[in-house]
Amino acid sequence: MSLIPSNARFFNANGVHVARALERTLAWIYSGIPVDPGSIILTDELIAYAQSEGVSEEKLRDFIAASYSQAIRPYHMLGFAKIESHYCSNIGGGVAIDEVWKRYYSAPLGSKAWWLANVAALKVLALQLGVDIRSIPGSIGAGAISCMQIMPVNWVRFGGGDYENVYISVVRAGQYLNATGYKNSFPEAVHRYNPNGGQAYVDMVVAAAAAWEAHFTGSAPDQEPELDKPSFLMTVAIFLEFLNQEMSGDGGDGGGPVPPVDGKLVHPFPTFTGYGYLFGSPVYVGGVWVIDHPGTDFIGPLGDPILASHNGKITWAQYLSRFSWLAVRWWISGNVVINQSYLEDGRQICTFNGHGLDNSYSVQKGDTVTAGEQIMRNGNTGFSSAPHDHFAVKVGGSGPYCDGGSWEDPLKWIGK
Ligand SMILES: [Zn+2]
Repeated sequence: MSLIPSNARFFNANGVHVARALERTLAWIYSGIPVDPGSIILTDELIAYAQSEGVSEEKLRDFIAASYSQAIRPYHMLGFAKIESHYCSNIGGGVAIDEVWKRYYSAPLGSKAWWLANVAALKVLALQLGVDIRSIPGSIGAGAISCMQIMPVNWVRFGGGDYENVYISVVRAGQYLNATGYKNSFPEAVHRYNPNGGQAYVDMVVAAAAAWEAHFTGSAPDQEPELDKPSFLMTVAIFLEFLNQEMSGDGGDGGGPVPPVDGKLVHPFPTFTGYGYLFGSPVYVGGVWVIDHPGTDFIGPLGDPILASHNGKITWAQYLSRFSWLAVRWWISGNVVINQSYLEDGRQICTFNGHGLDNSYSVQKGDTVTAGEQIMRNGNTGFSSAPHDHFAVKVGGSGPYCDGGSWEDPLKWIGK
């Protein structure tokens, strides 16, 4: 496939792919070079010192790997984290959005824009994670988020992501230290990170870092790779690779040339005759509760058409054994079709259909479908006692199956 964008028609026809590839390229640049915490070599001396500081080996690995990924010396980061956040041990006791609004109202006119920007950043983050904005915790007083106490604006501008994850939090702290001039001076970068602390704060951080440095000796991780931002050429190469993936339908996160779902779903089984399990009703197997049913079961004639409930991309069209791990995780089995797309607010949506008739697939993985198009026929395969379509709707999350998103009531989406 040619990737030469020869004229405006190219962008008009492929704008979605270009945008997705750009988004992935930016995420790649900002994420640094991932370092596997498991690959860090630790000396007994370092482990012992960490223990005396109340830092578990697992956390120590996260700290060191995340520091390397941002070319921050790990003892600098550990010293900084000791003073700033008790080694990343507390993600804050307030509701971030409430704290930020409070500061907005009390701020002088000149700094209201900054607090508004933090409100906007929290909205972006809630969308990115597919969570309720009020579930994001922040420090009382300013609404800084994650255990490294980073303001929402900075958290989001460096890529956002799971604020409960220590590795990601330390990566974000490293990005911020780099932005405040770490390469020139560690103490000055610390001062700019937290100007309210004054010189006393900086002195405490430097002393704590020196204490850690004394234990980074011998075969301790002395790797300190010189990690710079990727070169321009490298960035272009990565962008072209992502664009190529997007245009060949191998986009990882998906994102095909389909319009977003406008908030309503087509009924996947219009000729159904009755209901089985409804959304949220408890499922018992052998008298034991196993799950609250994550979808709706539509009972109906064997062999009748099952339809795509929205425009999207087929990310799964394959038999799923009821004993497989995915079947248990998704609570779906037999012949399964998963259709992935986007909502107008940018969140992902995935719909799952299960128990289809054998040899009845009319789509395959990678196909784009339009709402109402037949995807398979009604069956009784997998963990099923009568022909029915198990239909489930997952909103938010990421990847081809909306991992991390939440199940929602299909009947609400269909509008009955
Ligand atoms: Zn079911």
